[in-house]
Amino acid sequence: MAPIRLTVVVPAYNEAEVLPLFHARLVGVLDGMALDARVIYVDDGSHDGTWRVLDRLMGQDPRIGALRLSRNFGKEAALTAGLDAVTDDADAIVIIDADLQDPPELIPDLLARWRDGYDVVYATREHREGESWFKRATAHLFYRLMARMAAFNLPHDTGDFRLMSARAVAALRQLRERQRFMKGLFGWIGYPHTAVMYQRYPRQAGRTKWNYWRLFNLAVEGITSFSILPLRLATAVGVATSVCAFSYGAGVFIKAVLWGDPVKGYPSLMVVVLVLGGLQLLALGVVGEYLGRVYAEVKQRPIYLIETACQVPMMPPPYSTARADALPSVAAASLPTEDPR
Ligand code: UDP
Ligand code: MG
Repeated sequence: MAPIRLTVVVPAYNEAEVLPLFHARLVGVLDGMALDARVIYVDDGSHDGTWRVLDRLMGQDPRIGALRLSRNFGKEAALTAGLDAVTDDADAIVIIDADLQDPPELIPDLLARWRDGYDVVYATREHREGESWFKRATAHLFYRLMARMAAFNLPHDTGDFRLMSARAVAALRQLRERQRFMKGLFGWIGYPHTAVMYQRYPRQAGRTKWNYWRLFNLAVEGITSFSILPLRLATAVGVATSVCAFSYGAGVFIKAVLWGDPVKGYPSLMVVVLVLGGLQLLALGVVGEYLGRVYAEVKQRPIYLIETACQVPMMPPPYSTARADALPSVAAASLPTEDPR
């Protein structure tokens, strides 16, 4: 029996400090299994020498390939670039963070579940150590909200760390939307999936690139990507306020006709103006969110651009977007001697 071909995709942004540690642990795990393993690192426009570290690692191990994006495109785009570079012959694909928050030691467990016939095996965190109660509470709220709004179930407390079958990755690759909410895309493709529990550790070195503003944006993106409920809500609130406004207006009119119109009612006027103004701005904002997404899509820009690809046999370019200029431009495998960043 031929060994299983496993490809590990690792997005890395300013992870020079932790990458050697990570790689040593990853290779330790991969070597312990009878696998035909490959690792694809994606340098997401780092400016801390991450590429130099990758360059050195590639020199040591022919199983490693690396992509360097032309700038920082964000984790979702980096992941997409990595998945696009996975060759057709891979049986299973693992996505893992470079900061050692996702333990590589879990890969054998993920693989075991894949052998049982699951297409997507995601790692679900048991504990969130080193994270504030506020982050835990907001994350909790977000998962519940998404579960209500999206048509499919979003697994709770699950990051991007997961193993996917070749066909699940092929399905994922067909989703070329620009604003990529990966958790939602993973859920959208369906296929048999299961969870493996693990402990999530605080990152080993370096610092997280997430702050609350980015998390808020992620939440808005998640909701607007997979649900038009906010638009419905705006309509519903609009209908409700209109009904109230019309009946109140009719009341005011009748009162004025029957009893005249003494100049009074400044408070009620102010309340009505302010409430309606607020509601209108809110609804406009919701519409704007969706308009912004449409705007991003119609521009048809590529999701990422590649500056350098080393030891990575790129896949035949992505499928659905048939436009030639939407394909990643693969530069020659030239290595800059000095990191220009
Ligand atoms: N990452 C990336 N591009 C970015 C931000 C992050 O490729 O713009 C990578 C990062 O190097 C790490 C993973 O995505 O491997 C998760 O990032 P981080 O640890 O900052 O997120 P958190 O674990 O806090 O969700
Ligand atoms: Mg992390």
